Amino acid sequence: MDNFACYHSRMRGFITRFALVFSVVALAGQVPATARDAEPAGTRWSFAIHGGAGTISREDMTPEEDAAHRAALQAALDAGSKVLDEGGTAMDAVEAAILLLEDEPRFNAGRGAVYTWEGSHELDASIMDGATRDAGAVAGVTNIRNPILLARKVMTDSPHVMLAGKGAEDFAVEQGIEIVPPSYFDTERRREALERMKARQLSSLDVDLKFGTVGAVALDTAGNMAAGTSTGGMTGKRWGRVGDAPIIGAGTFADNRSCAVSATGWGEYFIRVGVAHEICARLRLQGYGAGPVPHTSSEDGEVMVAVALPLVSEVAQKIADEVMADVKQLGGDGGIILLTPEGHALFSFNTAGMYRGRATSDGVNEVAIYGND
Ligand code: ASP
Repeated sequence: MDNFACYHSRMRGFITRFALVFSVVALAGQVPATARDAEPAGTRWSFAIHGGAGTISREDMTPEEDAAHRAALQAALDAGSKVLDEGGTAMDAVEAAILLLEDEPRFNAGRGAVYTWEGSHELDASIMDGATRDAGAVAGVTNIRNPILLARKVMTDSPHVMLAGKGAEDFAVEQGIEIVPPSYFDTERRREALERMKARQLSSLDVDLKFGTVGAVALDTAGNMAAGTSTGGMTGKRWGRVGDAPIIGAGTFADNRSCAVSATGWGEYFIRVGVAHEICARLRLQGYGAGPVPHTSSEDGEVMVAVALPLVSEVAQKIADEVMADVKQLGGDGGIILLTPEGHALFSFNTAGMYRGRATSDGVNEVAIYGND
């Protein structure tokens, strides 16, 4: 189905003056309601989250683990949905959900962050406002309880987009962001993964089996989008390695003209493909968000106005799948969550499963784990 439909307004027999007015209205982006019947009402909101993708199969999960993961995802989904349902901003919804996921040790972000090779924790996070394309990110922080809050502070209270390491931590102190002792991030499960990795000379993919990065994307009732991502990175990372999560355009991207994306996966590949930006750019270049495009012919006073109509979810899904296939082709794996300006909440992953959830003002509310969930 064509995502850029032409709306033909035939005005045969009408006086030219009316045709002209119609064109001007269309150009101003205020196409009469009838021309945009396919679009949902303006009060619509939409929300999606993830808690990482990977080798996640029913056989490997106990019923208790399955239930606990679903409960944690549901709590985060509900927190973001509540913000949006009450008319809050996409940025606040993203932050609310990620805060909970960072505090939940089951996910590789905040409290449950994986270990570096040296046995410490280095956390990365980013957030982006699709309305303004303002963004903030932190990389390699060791004592910030909720890196997503610090990433947002970088955006709102510094002239920069990304701060790293000690400088980011100094900035956090200045901004009154909660500092915790590095031991706050110590968990038995993650320590055991590092030890197993070292003992058996495994790669981080072998020990982790799944990526536990968390992320959220939101569309609020004002039509603004936001995306955020937070992670502990990959087990056994060394030399100050930074993955895709704090890199705007790789792990996180939001642009009201196209989409909001948060990613999880083997960060090096997501950086090389520029996954989040690549998906949004492909959507935007479909003519998406370009607004009404004049397409006039003056024969017999006929006026035709081409209007950018909502992208059908199939097209957005196809684009996301193609970009993920590109990641796979290079040798990487993982997944993304995606929102379109119309509120389509989509997932794409080339792994067996992905912890995920989505909710919309239309009543969708679901969490899932496995590929065939
Ligand atoms: N993308 C993250 C990284 O490479 C890992 C993850 O998704 O869990 O740091």
